[in-house]
Amino acid sequence: MPEKYAVGIDFGGTKVIAGVVELSSGRLIGTGKKKTRQPNDVSDVSKRLVAVVDEALAGAEIAQKDLAGIGIGAAGMVNREKGLLINAVNLGLSEVPLTEPLSQHYGVPAKLGNDVEVATLGELKFGAGKGCDHFICIFVGTGIGSGIVIENKIVRGATGTAGEIGHTILHPNGKVCGCGAHGCLEAYASRTAIAKTIMSEVRRGQSSVVSDKIDPTKGILRSKAISQALEAGDELVTRTVIDAARNMGVGLASVINLLNPKRIILGGGLVEASELYFRVATEEAFSKALKIATKKTEIVKAGLGDYAGIVGASQLLLK
Ligand SMILES: [Zn+2]
Repeated sequence: MPEKYAVGIDFGGTKVIAGVVELSSGRLIGTGKKKTRQPNDVSDVSKRLVAVVDEALAGAEIAQKDLAGIGIGAAGMVNREKGLLINAVNLGLSEVPLTEPLSQHYGVPAKLGNDVEVATLGELKFGAGKGCDHFICIFVGTGIGSGIVIENKIVRGATGTAGEIGHTILHPNGKVCGCGAHGCLEAYASRTAIAKTIMSEVRRGQSSVVSDKIDPTKGILRSKAISQALEAGDELVTRTVIDAARNMGVGLASVINLLNPKRIILGGGLVEASELYFRVATEEAFSKALKIATKKTEIVKAGLGDYAGIVGASQLLLK
């Protein structure tokens, strides 16, 4: 391919980030960022995407002929062939065309993938999965998602939903999950789960340095607030994070037993913000999994941080 660069877009529930990426190296040479807000209609979505891409292109100063296209990783269910975001709960819209408006506006091809899938692709090409042909990337944040790589290829499954590790069930009679089932991993080990537990404990009279940092209507507690509380030795936050990490470790033990991966890559805001979470989850995973299954498995942190989605989305153009 003669073109050297592609734009990658990470279209998440809270923000949209775009970057111009050098395809061969994964190097970022210009970025743009905006908060995701409630759009008025479908065309409002593409206008905002164009604004973010323009910002990234302005910073990169590349010639139009060097641009291979635009790759998008979107949170939610996607139709890759039609370039549609099928279901975006956060936006209150469905069937949103993402690739066609961008392709028309910039006169280049555009491709769409799911956010976890493209972040996994980023880690595979340039991050912690580089050189490894059998691994799973697990991203812990408001929810828990994963991308499975076997023989250097991302496994999508029969209906494209493979990797929904957040909805594996740990406790059949346990807490209600966002998906409607009871006792999913996500309801115990995500940042949202941690925020909910801390909120209810504070309501019952427990004190914590984060009590005024939780958004009570949405149950949001930022990863940064969690890491600051851990550094300050906050007892409630420490106990809750350890408990969530143990549940994560139980989920990881099942992953090890099922897939026998060479590597488990843990990423996402919560993992980056808390060494404690990473350490406890890892210890628990190795202590609970079958000994024979763990022998060649290593658990490491993601390598690309916040930019895995952008870098990975740019690589969609190479497929
Ligand atoms: Zn669930």
